[in-house]
Amino acid sequence: MIKSVIFFIILAITWVLIIFNRKLKSQVKKNARGMSIVREHTGWGTTDCTCGTSRQKWQVLAMLRPENVVLLKCPLCGGLWEEQMSLYGNKWRQIDSAYADEHYKYKQQAVPGSRMEL
Ligand SMILES: [Zn+2]
Repeated sequence: MIKSVIFFIILAITWVLIIFNRKLKSQVKKNARGMSIVREHTGWGTTDCTCGTSRQKWQVLAMLRPENVVLLKCPLCGGLWEEQMSLYGNKWRQIDSAYADEHYKYKQQAVPGSRMEL
């Protein structure tokens, strides 16, 4: 009688562990899927600037090592871009000046022709 009770308890614990393990695995899979979606939607690509200026005409403002990322600026619209250098081809994405300030310690300089207000 006691033996069968112990047997059932072990069986129950084993079941709980199996179910818990399965839940954990599906959770990990879900998280991994979510992460890859986020990675695909951060805007990294090899497109021209939104104003139509091609990458070759952008100015290099700063560079970060060892991350191997470059801060770029479109001379036409002043849009800021971050380029990730890689052996498999460079990719870039549009960033805002707050991000540039924070990561590159870059301050938006007065554009020639525009008046400085003090
Ligand atoms: Zn532009």
